[in-house]
Amino acid sequence: MAGEPQSDCLFCKIVSGDVPATIVRESDTTVAFRDINPQAPTHVLVIPKVHYPDAASLAAAEPQIAADVLREAGTVATEDMVDGHGYRVVFNTGAGAGQTVFHAHAHVLGGRGLQWPPG
Ligand code: 5GP
Ligand code: ZN
Repeated sequence: MAGEPQSDCLFCKIVSGDVPATIVRESDTTVAFRDINPQAPTHVLVIPKVHYPDAASLAAAEPQIAADVLREAGTVATEDMVDGHGYRVVFNTGAGAGQTVFHAHAHVLGGRGLQWPPG
């Protein structure tokens, strides 16, 4: 069923605690944890606890939870004190855009200069 945990999904395993992660925040609907291969001094992933393959499918099915992900991304930036200089929230969508884990997630990147346009 849509949103149910997937046995082969790494991020569902982080939600369930079967795979460890450095968790920085948790809400009723989301978990935020540090990326294992950080691309910036702050590189946190914010994920919904429910499984959807990407941000658009999450937003279509569960718009409130998509909003929760965005709110938590902002709170992570505030707590890591990167909001003052600017930070970036990225949803890689599709393998061609670099998505490797097909459970919706926001990358929160900050703490260094961020080029525009991104690569
Ligand atoms: P994507 O490439 O799908 O947009 O982002 C997936 C992210 O998950 C990557 O930045 C990658 O470094 C991160 N990642 C992959 N495996 C793990 C893991 O086991 N733990 C954590 N904390 N991050 C992971
Ligand atoms: Zn999942």
